[in-house]
Amino acid sequence: MTDIAQLLRNNIAWAERVERDHPGFFRKLERQHKPKFLWIGCADSRVPADQLTGVMPGEVFVHRNIANQVINTDMNLMCVLQYAIDVLRVEHIIVCGHSRCGGIEAVMRGTTPGVLDHWLESVRRLVEAHPEADVDDIGQLNVRHGVESLAHNVLVRRAWSRGRRLLLHGWFYSIANGRLQDLGVSRGPQSENAP
Ligand SMILES: [Zn+2]
Repeated sequence: MTDIAQLLRNNIAWAERVERDHPGFFRKLERQHKPKFLWIGCADSRVPADQLTGVMPGEVFVHRNIANQVINTDMNLMCVLQYAIDVLRVEHIIVCGHSRCGGIEAVMRGTTPGVLDHWLESVRRLVEAHPEADVDDIGQLNVRHGVESLAHNVLVRRAWSRGRRLLLHGWFYSIANGRLQDLGVSRGPQSENAP
């Protein structure tokens, strides 16, 4: 396993490599922050948004929490959403779940500790409504539920009513093969009232 000092050494090597391959990269980024994408994903260390989508710093605005929950009373997420929509003017919001999510597995086993039990309430509801589903089925239902919650979010709806082209997407990442799957649940201003 990597020790903590190695992280700092890696950073020096990485910054030197980026500057060598893209001269002026950091100076340019210092002056502008214009990502087109907001990523709402799981905090799981095996699902790093930038790396698995192959983009450089500056391209994806990221919010991560346990089991990629979209809860419209979560002040942290609401601040991220407002900043992403009104200030950064992102064009796409991606809710991304992943296979073998530890948060979802814990709910299914009934072993969520303390406050996590509260945080994952909507996952528990999905598990109870789909007793035959496995962890990845619930993970995908959880992404659909997240996209649906965003489609009803007041910040998103206000952007749509102003005519903003803001699209919502639901993706699922396989830890087993590193591939992203589009779950086909995208929503936009025209489909905001679709079933
Ligand atoms: Zn997870």
